[in-house]
Amino acid sequence: MLILGSHVHFNQEQLLGSVKEALSYNANTFMFYTGAPQNTVRKPINDNLSLEALKLMKENNIDLKNIICHAPYIVNLANKNDLSKWNFSIDFIKNELSRCENLGITKLVLHPGSAVKITKKEGLDNIIDGLNIILNKNSSVKILLETMAGKGNECGSTLDELKYILDNIKEKNNIGICLDTCHLNDSGIEISHFDDYLKEFDQKIGIDKIYCIHINDSKNIIASHKDRHENIGLGTIGFENLLNVIYHKKLENIPKILETPYIGKTNLDKERLYPPYKFEIEMIKNKKYDSNLLDKVRDFYKN
Ligand code: FE
Ligand code: FE
Ligand code: ZN
Repeated sequence: MLILGSHVHFNQEQLLGSVKEALSYNANTFMFYTGAPQNTVRKPINDNLSLEALKLMKENNIDLKNIICHAPYIVNLANKNDLSKWNFSIDFIKNELSRCENLGITKLVLHPGSAVKITKKEGLDNIIDGLNIILNKNSSVKILLETMAGKGNECGSTLDELKYILDNIKEKNNIGICLDTCHLNDSGIEISHFDDYLKEFDQKIGIDKIYCIHINDSKNIIASHKDRHENIGLGTIGFENLLNVIYHKKLENIPKILETPYIGKTNLDKERLYPPYKFEIEMIKNKKYDSNLLDKVRDFYKN
């Protein structure tokens, strides 16, 4: 079955609001941050809202096991230069795991980290140390390391780096991978030859370690190390290559999450107001590219 959704908000109505938003896009899964992605301010989970959310999910056949939580970008396990910050990152991710556990969510996506002013190897070792402190075999939540574009000093932009981390994690059942098609393209992987990548992934890490896939087109050419997402079919990866990933037989029951950019009132508009997901999901389900995507989104939301 196609399990497809997008990034959604998590605000006053918390998980209930997230479910409603996902349903408005005709999605059967979604991904959210438990607060703003850029900061670590987090409000306590409201159990009543969670119960209402679970009820609404059940009514709409949304399976909690397909829901993804994403940790904020600013926690960084790669960098121990400031130990108090590293310890803060560890505590924050531990808390994030227990917030997931409270909600019944089993998958937390994490950017491995950035090796600032240290070598890649040191960065990777710090990530391993951190994860080995964080991961707890009694927890039902898995941390999914995201494949990164390799911007700046980002760790986890190659299979060998990810393999090195995974090989050194003690609680192997609590760790997995989240692919991101934009990041893969920007790191140098040809999505048009995705089978070659999957084969190498399987040899080095094992396809069974993939628990989530972020589906994004890219604004930049292959190996640009940029990480700027583009709407489906409008970037350098292209609609057919993305469809091939989405409908890949070996990745059938893995949740696919869109993180494509919001759309402005005009093509030049910097203010990004309208979520594209309802129409991107429609296009993907129809397996047919719609060159009017942006106008359709604008027409739908303009009033
Ligand atoms: Fe991410
Ligand atoms: Fe992503
Ligand atoms: Zn990205």
